[in-house]
Amino acid sequence: METFVIIGAGECGVRAALTLREAGFAGRVCLFGDERHAPYERPPLSKTFPPEVKPIVPPETLTEAGIELMLGARAVALDPVERAVRFDDDSMARYDRLLLATGATARTLPGFESALTLRTLDDARRIADAIVPGARLAIVGGGVLGMELAATARIRGAEVTVYEAGDALMGRAVPEPIAAILEARHIEAGVRIVKNADVTGASSHEIRTGDGACQTFDLVVCAVGAVPATDLAETAGLDIDNGIAVDAHFRTSARNVFAAGDCCAFAWRGAIVRLESWRAAQDQGAHAARAMLGDLTPYGTVPWFWSDQYELTLQVAGLYRAGWPYTRRAAGANGLLLFQHDEHGAPISVSGVGEGNSVARDVKLGERLIERDIRVDPAQLADPAVGLKTLLRR
Ligand SMILES: Cc1cc2nc3c(=O)[nH]c(=O)nc-3n(C[C@H](O)[C@H](O)[C@H](O)COP(=O)(O)OP(=O)(O)OC[C@H]3O[C@@H](n4cnc5c(N)ncnc54)[C@H](O)[C@@H]3O)c2cc1C
Repeated sequence: METFVIIGAGECGVRAALTLREAGFAGRVCLFGDERHAPYERPPLSKTFPPEVKPIVPPETLTEAGIELMLGARAVALDPVERAVRFDDDSMARYDRLLLATGATARTLPGFESALTLRTLDDARRIADAIVPGARLAIVGGGVLGMELAATARIRGAEVTVYEAGDALMGRAVPEPIAAILEARHIEAGVRIVKNADVTGASSHEIRTGDGACQTFDLVVCAVGAVPATDLAETAGLDIDNGIAVDAHFRTSARNVFAAGDCCAFAWRGAIVRLESWRAAQDQGAHAARAMLGDLTPYGTVPWFWSDQYELTLQVAGLYRAGWPYTRRAAGANGLLLFQHDEHGAPISVSGVGEGNSVARDVKLGERLIERDIRVDPAQLADPAVGLKTLLRR
């Protein structure tokens, strides 16, 4: 009987395992994860305190599908020639095909090692325990995750200070006018934001700045990005390029080894990208599973992510290009949409912010414009009297 092994029981690994069954694979599906919790969703970890534990699927779903789930099992070595994976308890698993869905880990910086980070349920519980009304919380990093955490902690009554090294919040992911709307909302809520901050070191209770000052907090969380979990792939000699390098079918440089989700990097419309997004992890897991079964349809899904901060929801489809011009379009009562085009007029990104789901439909339509590469006159895009659906039909 054929055995397909998946390393990483997160969003991507679980979706891949289920897709193998949905596609009719009758061999063994073995899903290994190093965490001890049953597979859970990460997005609620920064949006709810205490963190909501939301299973990726009900536990019985995996059992009923005949998926062998092994928790607390860390893969430590991969031998692509022998087609074998070794685990931290020295046990071995042999595979016919292997999927690496090892995700990412929170980035740490030299001098910041003892500050807390937020990636896992255990991290979120540790942070949430300390965030009581009046607690003084410092967040190093004003990216999307840092600002979600700021909102959630502030709603819970903590005194929040965000230290951002750059001169804009969420600068890598979001156009400046949208970041400005979110920043204004944080300031209104009482979050203290320090931009161009020169934080030189931090522990779980202290922040040191370049001027030699040291500030004390009840908790310091470092939210300075994530790094792909590539150790296993690296030691096995697989190609790495800011993630495990894969082709349009999520095949790595080693035969019968695939990689997908936050840990992998691939070419998308001429750029090498690594996405850290919930929907991408699901899509890629499903796509990689079908590729493992021989379906070689190239992957071309438009990237998309969302973030919730207070009553505002941010959504970005496509690949936002920092510093690139955009076309504005009003959406709903107070919402804003920003579209970007490349030098040839091809749509490349749409970013939107508004209350609740108010921009979801327009971002979806923008995503379709990108998917179908429909070139639109910017003047028409900017005109709310011209429906996006009409533009899509052209
Ligand atoms: C706090 C938080 C909030 C988020 N909010 C949003 C959001 O609002 N919107 C959005 O679009 N995205 C969000 N994301 C991102 C999204 O959750 C991730 O992109 C997604 O979880 C990636 O799925 P994955 O399966 O690729 O990786 P992961 O979810 O990281 O899963 C990988 C799993 O593999 C395990 N593993 C790693 N190495 C090994 C090994 N050697 N052996 C065994 N197991 C191993 C890891 O421990 C982990 O359990 C958020 C992420 C975090 C952390």
